[in-house]
Formats: sequence, structure tokens, C-alpha cells
Amino acid sequence: MPRKASRSIAVVDEHPVAVVPVSERRLSFGGKWAYAPAPESVPVKIAPRYELFVGGKMVAPKSGKYFPSLNPANEKQLAEVALGNAADVAAAVSAARKAFAKWSKLPGRERGKYLYRIARIVQEKARELAIVETMDGGKPIKESRDFDLPQVAAHFFYHAGWADKLDYAFPGRKAAPVGVCGQIIPWNFPLLMAAWKLAPALACGNTVVLKPAETTSVSAMHLAEILREAELPDGVVNIVTGAGETGRALVEHADVDKLAFTGSTDVGKLLAKSVAATKKRLTLELGGKAAHLIFEDAPIDQAVEGIINGIFFNQGHVCCAGSRLLVQEGVFAKVLRKLSDRIKTLRVGDPMDKNTDIGAINSKPQLEKIRELVQAGVAEGGELIQTRCALPAKGYWFPPSLITGVTASHRVAQEEIFGPVLSVMTFRTPEEAIERANNTPYGLSAGVWTDKGSKIFKMVSKLRAGVVWANTYNKFDPTSPFGGYKESGFGREGGVHGLLPYVRLES
Ligand code: ADP
Repeated sequence: MPRKASRSIAVVDEHPVAVVPVSERRLSFGGKWAYAPAPESVPVKIAPRYELFVGGKMVAPKSGKYFPSLNPANEKQLAEVALGNAADVAAAVSAARKAFAKWSKLPGRERGKYLYRIARIVQEKARELAIVETMDGGKPIKESRDFDLPQVAAHFFYHAGWADKLDYAFPGRKAAPVGVCGQIIPWNFPLLMAAWKLAPALACGNTVVLKPAETTSVSAMHLAEILREAELPDGVVNIVTGAGETGRALVEHADVDKLAFTGSTDVGKLLAKSVAATKKRLTLELGGKAAHLIFEDAPIDQAVEGIINGIFFNQGHVCCAGSRLLVQEGVFAKVLRKLSDRIKTLRVGDPMDKNTDIGAINSKPQLEKIRELVQAGVAEGGELIQTRCALPAKGYWFPPSLITGVTASHRVAQEEIFGPVLSVMTFRTPEEAIERANNTPYGLSAGVWTDKGSKIFKMVSKLRAGVVWANTYNKFDPTSPFGGYKESGFGREGGVHGLLPYVRLES
């Protein structure tokens, strides 16, 4: 019997064997499974070209066109990706419709088995997928390896558990699937956003056409291979890559029953207009401009760490990033000094280096947007505090930055920068903090640091944000619903609330 012997070597039938690359592990040991710990360096196969995934097959785009996916850390082409057009979207929707007839009738327990299988294969290939994610998107490998991939697996596991328990989720009601779901995802957490969208849809018996973001489609195609390996029936998930036009074709397709979108508020508004007066259901997870509050009674060192994580995690490419810091006046000087010191210790650079804290900005247009907003912040009277670190010559980089002297009307206090830039403001009283925190068109998330539990409850009940973290930040769990108010969108993902958009409740 294979058994686990030590952390660095696997023993099969008492004969020590070398750890083999992840991709070959299934074939090793005469067909026996060996649970070898993943090696530190994992060979990753990145194909020169990726096709579309339609009806269970990899198919060439009807346009015959492909577009480059760049590694933002060196501006080199990582792969070519198929440019799906309206005809490709139509083929994918038709495959999803065909698959729906059988998939929606499958007992929940059977659907759950597929989801468990997907979750396990994701875990098995986590190292490899993390590398793909980092090379295609620019995020530090320690984040894709220790945050994104474990969360991807967790979302499939969690929703696998719901597949045969929908009757318990909605007691007294029958939860029928909605139909064909069009899901459009962004580039900041490519695989994780795919998992957030696919797992609940499939658990509830729906079929899907997924449209990844144009700068980060490669890992989605690796996920397609995993779906094939899990023997998910053909057409249950289809993946059509492309840019905004491809997304628009999916949004406008008449046979889509439900749309789920995560991305910018501008595109979210277009979707809302497009589906108005159609049968389509819609959930939107859009931008944010989260207030992160520090009270004078907070544990300051911990709060500073929380603030750093809140804004610099994933280069600030996070819709719930704590991008507006509100500090109570009595501790302002102290907090600012500690933050200024701390940003000097953040390592910016090669995302594949596991010591890197801040990787590459996802794309050139995003870098230009960050630069433009920071310049506007300075032009409006803000003071820029930046680290002077050496940045690689090639690639898209922005150093961790603080802007002080910001007022509520400044663009950097109102607009989502989506980069490693923190706008710093002050407040005197809890009432003023609430007023300032809520003074934005967004309402996705917020954070509060204080030693007083009663103050936390008071703030949480008054902050108009879908998620409020207290004495921590950026904590995620598949059991916990996530979503916004106001221009941050509507609908929730995660938990029982996240199942609701994917079911029709019948009595
Ligand atoms: P960002 O501005 O952060 O790049 P977007 O909202 O533009 O975010 O992109 C999020 C997702 O929406 C991507 O997959 C993108 O291709 C897609 N998208 C962009 N424009 C449209 C559109 N008009 N209709 C549908 N999807 C779109």
C-alpha cells in the first residue's frame, strides 16, 4: 500500500521514489496513486495557443483570430488566445442549452460528485495553476499559491456540499435551476472569480458560458482541461475567450437565462441597461472605494498591518481594497509614520519570486489609469509618499504609495484607482467617520479597527457596505456572502445567499 513517509519523499511498497512532476504523477508507480508532496519547482506546460472550450471540445474560433496574452512582468507574449465572436458565443450557448436538459435532471448527489472531483484536481494541480496565474496576471506567487488556489478549491468543495442539500437551504421550497448562465469575469482573481461563478451555478443544476477577461484567459483554459479530466458532461461549462465585444455578445444573446458579472461599474451599468425588459436575471459585483477606519483606541501596530494588507494585497487590484484610510486625529501622526516606514519594506518586483510583496500591474492601460489618478491627486493638493525602490526595466510597475491631504471631494477619494495607492484622511468623532465613510457612490466593503466591541457593532450597523471587517481585513470564506450596495452592484456570492441567483424557488 502506498503510504506517506516524510514530507519530502514518497515511499511506495517500501521503495523510496523520487517526487515526480505533478503532471506525470498519475502515470507513475504502475498506475498506483502516490501522494507525493508537490515539489518546490513544478514544470508547467503553457501552450503557445489556446482555443475555445465549447461542447466539451477545444475548438478554433470562427473568426480564425487570436490575440496575445502578455506576461505583465516582462511584456513578453505568454500565449495566444482565441478571439471568440458572436457566432462562437451562439455555439457555446447552444451547447449549454443542450447540456442543460440532462444536467438539470441529474440528482444533486451526482452533480456534487463532479464538483468534488474538480475541487480535488484543482488541489492536486494547485502549484502548477498558481504559476500560470502569476505569469499571466502578474500577482505575487505567494498570493496565487497561498490564497487564490486554496480558495478556488474551497469554493468547489463548499458548493459540492450544497448540490444534494438544496432542500435544506430553502426549506419547504423546491429549488429548480434557472437555465443557461452567462458569466463574465475580471482579471484580478481569474481562477477564483471563475470558481465563485461556476461552483454555485453547477451545484444548482445550471449550465454555463464563461467569458474570462482578455488579459487573463490562460488559467481559465487550464481549468477547462481540469473539467475534462473530471469528466464533466460536455457542454455543462463552455469557455469563450475574447474582449468586451465577446462579453457583449454573451450579454445580448436571447437564450441566456441569467447573467453574472464582476468588473467595472461602467460595464455593469451597460449590462443593466441591456437586460432591462428581458427575461434575464442579473447579478453585478462592481467597483468599490472602501473606507478603512482606525480609531485612537485601536491596537495600532496590528491596524497598520491590516491597512497594508487591505490596500497592497494583489497590487490593490481588489474591488474591496481598503483604499480610503480614515484615521482618528489623535493617532494620525503615529499611523502615518508607521505606514511610511512599513511601505519601505515592501518588495516590489518579479512576481515569481516568493519573497515579492507587490507584483506587476496587470496591464499597460491599468498602469496608465493608476498614474493618471495619482497625478490628479497631487494636482488637487494631495501629498504623495512613495517608496523609491528600483523597478525592473521591462513590465508594468507602480510603487506602493500613500496620498495625504486628501479631502472627500478629491478624485482619489471618490474614484476607484485599483492599484497600490492609499488615500489618507482623518476624522474626529465616530459620527464623522460614518459620514465620511459612506460618502462615495460605492458600498462594497469597509474595515474598522478599535478595541471596543460596542463601537464595532455601532459602526457595522451604520456603514453602508456589503462586507465590514473588524480588526482584520480581506478575510474570505465560501460560506460568507459577498456583494455590494449602491454602485457596487447587487446580488451576493458565497453562502446560502450566493445560491439564490441560481435557483427558481417553487412551492
Ligand atoms: P476593467 O475596467 O477593470 O478592465 P471591465 O469591466 O472592463 O473591467 O472588464 C470586466 C469583464 O467585462 C472582462 O471580462 C471584459 O472583457 C468584460 N467586458 C468589457 N466590456 C464589456 C461589455 N460591453 N459587455 C460585456 N462584457 C464586457
